[in-house]
Amino acid sequence: MTRSAFISTVVLVLAGATAAIAAEQKIRISSFSTILTEVAQQVGGERVEVTAHVKPGVDPHDFDPKPSDMRAVAAADLVLLSAKHMEGYLARLKEATGAKGNVLEVGNALPSLKLTVQHGDHSHDGEDPHWWHSVRNIARATKLVRDELIRLRPADKAIFTASTSAYLAKLEALDKWVKTKVAELPRDKRKLVTNHDAFGYFAKEYGFTVMPIAGVSTNAQPGSKAVAELIVAIKTAGVKAVFSEDVSNPKVIQEITKETGAKFGGELLSDGLGRKGMTVEEMFKYNVTTIVDTLK
Ligand SMILES: [Zn+2]
Repeated sequence: MTRSAFISTVVLVLAGATAAIAAEQKIRISSFSTILTEVAQQVGGERVEVTAHVKPGVDPHDFDPKPSDMRAVAAADLVLLSAKHMEGYLARLKEATGAKGNVLEVGNALPSLKLTVQHGDHSHDGEDPHWWHSVRNIARATKLVRDELIRLRPADKAIFTASTSAYLAKLEALDKWVKTKVAELPRDKRKLVTNHDAFGYFAKEYGFTVMPIAGVSTNAQPGSKAVAELIVAIKTAGVKAVFSEDVSNPKVIQEITKETGAKFGGELLSDGLGRKGMTVEEMFKYNVTTIVDTLK
């Protein structure tokens, strides 16, 4: 082998090794939303390593990151947040990521609904953070995550584009299913009473009226005056059932069902995926089936 041929061979081998390492290096994503964890996995596939900080069944309103969460965030290429003020620890997260600017506040790029937040005796208007109860919003979020992954790894644009299209097709089918199921319920029966006002986006998208018991936070306690007013409203509207949710205390619901004669319709999944392995599709099918079949 001549000297130049030897050098070319070495260069080729090194180039091959570098390409192999680059292909193996996954984009590290820190997700603070069970919904966005699924989205990131669906869009990124084998090219991403997603750390789910907020796990299924955990109340995201109460979540507080540990030092180990912060270390993962500091090492992440991308941090995914529900946003719309869900993460009270946002400033600490941004500090942990340094000046990398890799925090994607997904909810802040989506349309907003207002919500009245109750704090004991007084209330104020806030932003409803529960945007994922509209399938269309999850589709919007999926496109945002896709664009961010393409920005981080332009070489894999075709792969991210294809996986996004496949996931969007699934979401479209799910949206159709939701609309068909909801259509079983006459319009005047589409009234949703829950003890955690999390279904504003769902209501707007699928034609329901929400009759909230408490404010935005699962920590909020309804005042007895508010409960009394709601009891009158439920009786007047002839609402057949009231719902609870997966992560809060159902005491107030019990009081209302006793006073109104409405039955307890079951627990809804309001704050994300309810258990390990649950998918967005399963969450919607569970919620919508529970709501429609109980109010019929
Ligand atoms: Zn919530």
